[in-house]
Amino acid sequence: MLDPLLRRRLPPRITTPEFWPATFDRFDEILSLADHCQVEHIGTSAGGRAIHGVTYRGRSGAPTLGLVGGMHGHEPQGPAVCFNVLSVLGYGRDLKGSSWPEIVDDINYVIVPVVNPDARARMPNSFVGLARQDILHHDAGLTLEGERYDPAKGDCDPDEMMILGGLFNDAGNHVNRETDPDNIRSPEIAATMEFIADHRPDIVLEFHAHAAPPLLIRPTNLVPEEVQQRQQRICEEIIDTARAEDILFDGKIIASEKCSTGLYHHFGGSVPILYESPQGVLDSKAPWSYEQIIDTCMFVVSRLCAHLTA
Ligand SMILES: [Zn+2]
Repeated sequence: MLDPLLRRRLPPRITTPEFWPATFDRFDEILSLADHCQVEHIGTSAGGRAIHGVTYRGRSGAPTLGLVGGMHGHEPQGPAVCFNVLSVLGYGRDLKGSSWPEIVDDINYVIVPVVNPDARARMPNSFVGLARQDILHHDAGLTLEGERYDPAKGDCDPDEMMILGGLFNDAGNHVNRETDPDNIRSPEIAATMEFIADHRPDIVLEFHAHAAPPLLIRPTNLVPEEVQQRQQRICEEIIDTARAEDILFDGKIIASEKCSTGLYHHFGGSVPILYESPQGVLDSKAPWSYEQIIDTCMFVVSRLCAHLTA
C-alpha cells in the first residue's frame, strides 16, 4: 500500500478548461503577468506555501471590494473566479473572453485568490460531471480505515488520515472554523485578516461550493445588527436580480455564526458575505457546466460592484 503521506500529494488528475485555472503553475503564471495589480506575499501556509494578496487600485476615494477564494481545497471555482476577475480588470474580458461591464476598473479590489493553498494542492481540480459521493470522499477526508472523517469534530490529526480533506491546512486546522479573533491558530486566517485590516474593503465575498443551487450565507459572528441588515439587503438584491435574469438561485439566505468569514468585519470593518456555488455534480439540482459555474460566480461579483457604485 502506498504510504498515506505520499498518496496525499497526488490528487486525481482532472483537466479543467483554460478559464478554470486550478493549479499553482497556472496561478503563478497569471500572477506573474498581472502588471495591472500589486501582488504581495502576505503569509505562508502551515505546509510552507505562499499566500498571495492582490490589490488593484481604482480611482482615489473609490469603494473597495474584497474577494477571497480557496478556503476549501475541494472548491476550486473560488480561485478560478478570482483569476477571472483579475483578467477582467487587466484586459476587459474574463479568461473565456466574456465582458462584465459592471466589474469596473475605477473601484478598488483586494483579492486573496487561494487562502488555503495546502488544501488546493492536495485536492482534485474539479468535481464537474462527477457525483456527490466524490466530494464526500474529499471534503472532510478519509481516515486510515477509509471512513469519512466527521467534520463536526473540527481539527484533525493529519497522521490519522488517508485523505487529508479540503477543509484543512497541512497541520490539520479546520481554518474556516476560526471564530475567536483573539486566538487565531492557523497562519492562513492570520495572514488574510491582517491583509483585510490593512485595506478595509467595504464588502468581502468569500467563495465556497456545495452540491446544490447557488446560495448566499450571512456570517453573523461579531457582526453588529446594522451591518447584518446591510448583508441581508445585498443578498436580497443579488437573488432578485438572479431571478430577473432566469439564473437558478436558492431564495433562502442562511445566517451562520460558525465561520471565520464573519471576522472580516471585526478586522476590516467589511460586510462579510459567503457564496456557495454549485459544484457541478450530476446528482444535484444544479448539474452545471464549467461555464455556468464561472458565469454565475462572476454574476455575483458584478452585482456587488453594481451595489458599491450605485
Ligand atoms: Zn466551503
